[in-house]
Amino acid sequence: MNLHYKSTRNSKLKATASEAVLKGLAPDGGLFVPECIPKLDIPMDRLKRMSYQETAYEVMKLFLTDFTEEELKACISRAYDSKFDTEEIAPLAKVDDTYYLELFHGPTIAFKDMALSILPYLMTTSAKKNNVENEIVILAATSGDTGKAAMAGFADVEGTRIIVFYPKNGVSKVQELQMVTQKGNNVDVVAIHGNFDNAQSGVKAMFENAELADKLAGNGYQFSSANSINIGRLVPQVVYYVYAYAKLLGEGELSAGEQMNVVVPTGNFGNILAAYYAKQMGVPIGRLICASNENKVLFDFFCTGTYDRNRAFVLTTSPSMDILISSNLERLIYLVTGEDSGQTSRFMEELKAGGSYALTEEMREKLEDFEAGYATEAQTADQIRRIYEATGYVLDTHTAVASHVCDEYRKASGDGSKCLVASTASPYKFVKSVMTSIDSTYEAEDDFLLLEKLEEVSGVDMPQAIADILHADVLHKTECDTDKMEDTVKEILDIR
Ligand SMILES: *Cc1c(COP(=O)(O)O)cnc(C)c1O
Repeated sequence: MNLHYKSTRNSKLKATASEAVLKGLAPDGGLFVPECIPKLDIPMDRLKRMSYQETAYEVMKLFLTDFTEEELKACISRAYDSKFDTEEIAPLAKVDDTYYLELFHGPTIAFKDMALSILPYLMTTSAKKNNVENEIVILAATSGDTGKAAMAGFADVEGTRIIVFYPKNGVSKVQELQMVTQKGNNVDVVAIHGNFDNAQSGVKAMFENAELADKLAGNGYQFSSANSINIGRLVPQVVYYVYAYAKLLGEGELSAGEQMNVVVPTGNFGNILAAYYAKQMGVPIGRLICASNENKVLFDFFCTGTYDRNRAFVLTTSPSMDILISSNLERLIYLVTGEDSGQTSRFMEELKAGGSYALTEEMREKLEDFEAGYATEAQTADQIRRIYEATGYVLDTHTAVASHVCDEYRKASGDGSKCLVASTASPYKFVKSVMTSIDSTYEAEDDFLLLEKLEEVSGVDMPQAIADILHADVLHKTECDTDKMEDTVKEILDIR
């Protein structure tokens, strides 16, 4: 039986899984959602003995039903290989009474690798299935993290090219080094003389430019997007929640059927939505706890039923969560409206026009699986120091937000269920903020020295990903003005 996907803004608009992966966004601007969430068809007792790759197959085959077994297994084995620094792919750490699911063992040491390492293969397989012969050109604008993870994922994947734009003075030193040293014959990185919004608008304009699309097609290319609304990113993220539960069961940390809460540091709402899907599939997950930093739009939304982006944007030490419009929330909205695509469209129009929309009481009742909390900058830093002093385990800033929210939830609710915290980045990635949280005298030190200090403090070796960039050659030096992005793309692709 084939599972189809429909648009959140028009339930009649349907696509197969491979079409949805290729398109990314539905043609009406909606997001693709599965017609129903499939149930796991094998018992936890068997899952608990499976490797990450085997679990991935059991979960993903239920969502990507038009992929053959051979195709899907090939995608999985190419994605989850030695580019992860542990065979477990997503190991668990028990710290005090909390389980941290470490999603940062991939090539860019942050959780985006979990999906972006497989998306390129899902995309090229989808292209083949749909008789697309053009080379797929991924265009991306990045404020640092996603661009690098996408480049690492697409590097040297046959049938693809990737071009990433980043703001010349808008990313950290480590982030810039990570990007400009990226290897791969199909990879290009361009620093623009502007900010992230300029990069984003420039990329969007190219996606919407029909004349450019024709020109590309004439040269055997077509654009696609790797951003987090693609179901090819969402589905692989469901896997690690199933895997984590099964592993905890296997290790006797949970008993059969015991409910576990999940706490997720949230930005675009992709990761926590994946946990919700895992619950719908039958994983005994109790509460889904959404953790925000000071950009607490989602916390307010869960408290009041009103989503309101009209507020000041705060720059925090957990930059990957500095978001005022969480695009994946639209998929949850669609569900709580009772899969009413007309109502979902109206909410999204209100959001675009006035920056807010309000759920009805009836819709709010359907959010009862969710809890929300947030951490201020001071609470985040304090959490890093406190956990370090008590246990020796060093959290990154994003994970610390979730860890704080987890503790607060336990205290306030008296809910004694075991808690899994999604740990979304290695502390090495945000070394300055992490080290100054532990000891404020590190403020004056340079990032590169702090990497060594972190090694001493945490007793965890510097990840290869960091060691590599310290000595790697700079391979990309292209820069351009914001009004020259299209010309730059044409030059890179040799299109006249
Ligand atoms: C992207 C990201 C997040 C937020 O995840 P969403 O799926 O966008 O909610 C949290 N932490 C880190 C380190 C990230 O890179």
